[in-house]
Amino acid sequence: MKFPIYMDHHATTPVDPRVLEAMLPYFSESFGNAASRFHKFGWEAEAAVETARGQVAHLINARPEEIIFTSGATESDNLAVKGVAWAGRSKGNEIITLATEHKAILDSCRRLEGEGFSVTYVPVESDGLVDLARLEAAISHRTILVTVMAANNEIGVLQPIAEIGKLCRARGIIFHTDGVQAVGKIPIDVEAMSIDLMSITAHKLYGPKGIGALYIRSRPAGLELVPIADGGGQERGMRPGTLNVPGIVGLGKACEICRQEMSEESSRLRGLRDRLEQALLSRLDDVQVNGSMEHRLPHNLNVSFRGVDAESLMLGINDVAVSSGSACLSGTREPSYVLRAMGIDEELAQNPIRFGLGRSNTWEEVDYVSERVVETVKSLREVSLEFSKIRDPK
Ligand code: PLP
Repeated sequence: MKFPIYMDHHATTPVDPRVLEAMLPYFSESFGNAASRFHKFGWEAEAAVETARGQVAHLINARPEEIIFTSGATESDNLAVKGVAWAGRSKGNEIITLATEHKAILDSCRRLEGEGFSVTYVPVESDGLVDLARLEAAISHRTILVTVMAANNEIGVLQPIAEIGKLCRARGIIFHTDGVQAVGKIPIDVEAMSIDLMSITAHKLYGPKGIGALYIRSRPAGLELVPIADGGGQERGMRPGTLNVPGIVGLGKACEICRQEMSEESSRLRGLRDRLEQALLSRLDDVQVNGSMEHRLPHNLNVSFRGVDAESLMLGINDVAVSSGSACLSGTREPSYVLRAMGIDEELAQNPIRFGLGRSNTWEEVDYVSERVVETVKSLREVSLEFSKIRDPK
């Protein structure tokens, strides 16, 4: 085993060596600007970009022309939410989202509220899933956009995307999904799921950081979107700026590998995750699994151990990399807003441990990690029992 053991694949993933190999020529030999029309350097770069566009599209059953490249999912989310809102202002000013969305969505919505849009943050049920009837009830004739993530980044629960897509399509409302944690991990088909826009990022699927994509449906009629940046007109003017060719090549290759290996990989990871869950639940009392186990990413486990501080536990298992909630919010001592939205009490919501299994993890690692967690939880609980005896001797 190689230490520390990495089990934080929702935060980011290592670049797959095959992805790195595909990218390398585009830093030096084939360094052209994909917009250069009159020489071989430009043509090579453009061809590589178009190959990657096809690879991304293939993974989600889209057409290549429906993919535009961005700097990552934060930008894709901003472009989708603000772009649709600004373009649709004359039709309505209402947006619907979930209380448990990623900050890139929630903060984009907050900014739009400052501009006069009205946003409904639909609550989730205790298993983290949205109740479709509740979502439907929030829709009005002024609703222009529904944005609901495919898989949650903390608890891994899978929202009923196809049903939400159908509901929106029937009403002519644009449906965006943040597909970051789901794409490449579980099958996502933008046609079958009636998705109009979807955000993707490379670094969650074994590609490089700083590159992502936005799927924008082109048929039957192209969606109208106001870009968030102005410039040289690249990416059909939706996302101007010189293209990050090595990054794009990496994203494309990463998508191709996921398409080929996803089904085998996800069943392997489900086996590892279930073994980890089983070991923790069978050997410890007072463990809560946060979120639906039925509708969940195969590689996610999110648990809270009653009476155990997540930071102390993570320090105790310092040769294992996991996190408490999302990477962008760790470092704050606020309880997870995702767990709070599910009605989980403050103590458990403040102390989740998120395990994100990935390509490199092995059975041996899972057994080592579960052993370390069980031992550490037991000793932390003993220490707090000793303390409480000292504090209250009776
Ligand atoms: N959306 C979700 C669900 C995420 O998990 C992340 C990653 O942190 C993002 C958006 C932001 O992605 P990026 O890091 O590419 O900006």
